[in-house]
Amino acid sequence: MTEKVRVRFAPSPTGPLHIGGVRTALYNYLFAKQNNGDFILRIEDTDQNRYVEGAEKYIIDALNWCGIPFDEGPGKELGHGPYRQSERKSLYKKYADQLITSGKAYYAFDSAQSLDAHRKDHESKGKTFIYNWHNRLKLDNSLSIKPEELQTRLANEENYVIRFYNPQDEVLHLTDMIRGDIQIDTNILDDKVLFKSDGMPTYHLANIVDDHLMEISHVIRGEEWLPSLALHTQLYDAFGWQAPEFAHLPLIMKPEGKGKLSKRDGEKGGFPIFPLSWGDSTGYKEAGYFPEAVVNFLALLGWNPGTEQELFKLDELIKAFELSRVHKSGARFDPEKTKWYNHYYLQVQDDVVLLNSFKTILAEKLNHGPVFNLNLVNNDDYIARVISLIKERASFVSDFWELGSYFFQTPNSYNEKVVKKQWKENTPNILNNIASLLESLEDFSSPELEEMVKNWIGKEQLSFGQVMAPLRLVMVGDLKGPHLFDIMALIGKIETLKRIRIALEKL
Ligand code: GLU
Repeated sequence: MTEKVRVRFAPSPTGPLHIGGVRTALYNYLFAKQNNGDFILRIEDTDQNRYVEGAEKYIIDALNWCGIPFDEGPGKELGHGPYRQSERKSLYKKYADQLITSGKAYYAFDSAQSLDAHRKDHESKGKTFIYNWHNRLKLDNSLSIKPEELQTRLANEENYVIRFYNPQDEVLHLTDMIRGDIQIDTNILDDKVLFKSDGMPTYHLANIVDDHLMEISHVIRGEEWLPSLALHTQLYDAFGWQAPEFAHLPLIMKPEGKGKLSKRDGEKGGFPIFPLSWGDSTGYKEAGYFPEAVVNFLALLGWNPGTEQELFKLDELIKAFELSRVHKSGARFDPEKTKWYNHYYLQVQDDVVLLNSFKTILAEKLNHGPVFNLNLVNNDDYIARVISLIKERASFVSDFWELGSYFFQTPNSYNEKVVKKQWKENTPNILNNIASLLESLEDFSSPELEEMVKNWIGKEQLSFGQVMAPLRLVMVGDLKGPHLFDIMALIGKIETLKRIRIALEKL
């Protein structure tokens, strides 16, 4: 029997989740669901200095909003908990000790000041200080002092860290599901700290121990962790544990293509970087994106299905996603494309969802200006019909007002350029005639209106534009909007005639 697929998303609660983090979570989720596996959330909060209040809740809320909830994690304890590393504190020391005993790790007593002096000294010579095989015997650690001295210093409870003993002159063969085989010369690696003097494990030790104890089968994470793969693989070997498979995801790049997408790019380009708002940064949710759109565009940032298909719902992604089709190179973020996705998901959105969010906007807008008929404000049927007429042009519910305010308010100004071009000498005459025709029309429906106006235009031997352009201007205040007769039918006879009358007075 093959082992159960268990993947984890392991963020550090140091702030809001960047959309790159959401994509990592999403790929983990897709891979888990596709393989009937488990998607675990582990909070990596061993670095208490970087802990940010509210960040864990934010992460959980963000995953839930995206529709990719974890199966196991804080609050969903399923036998591998606790899922916060700070609550697992007592567990790590014994693993560090185990490595000391087997000679894979050693105590290092170097003070922060002395390491800093080494670093500065190297920098002044244009070099980088690395703590490893080439200098460790000259530094202050259990390899460079006598066993008796070590015992005394440990007994005196001197501060120490535990470092990994990186071998000299070895070539490591690493495997990544996306990048294939990677060879690393151990001579370039440093003896990373595994356990800190404050009694806490570092990321590396805690991460490996937890992945092992939580029976993680695949580690899918950002490319920034690729340099840690050599150490992590060696740690699994040192413990005698079977390593999970690894997949390192490409970076999400700036819209210009070079460099990692940052919060500042979002501020500069006016697009969200976080799934939900955080402080004064607006999130995708609050900016009016649908979670389906966010999930869809993130899925295709770094992965492609090998076909032309771009639109995928979550269940389709679960079927189509393949780790082997994740790209090696960075994925350029395209803010326009995210709007394109949202436009699509708005078109297929549940009408009730659109109605309710538009009603919130309407309530606010109509506070600032009168509605021509007070009954419309709470007339769900009317509002739904407005939406169905304008949504084709909208990418966000917030576009509805701009696209359709004239369904609620009589235009109080007219686009001047249009007036200049379309308002001719005979226009008032034409509109007066149209008004009396409309007055007599009993069935004020769009097809009836259309037939009647068109017949009249034919009979009078006028051009279509001569009549339709001013008529639209009068109804909408501009030359925009859906089918004119649909607009007139919806606002109704009284309002249509009123708009003609007002325009004739004003223009
Ligand atoms: N805590 C790490 C992070 O914040 C996890 C990296 C990993 O997935 O191993 O991204």
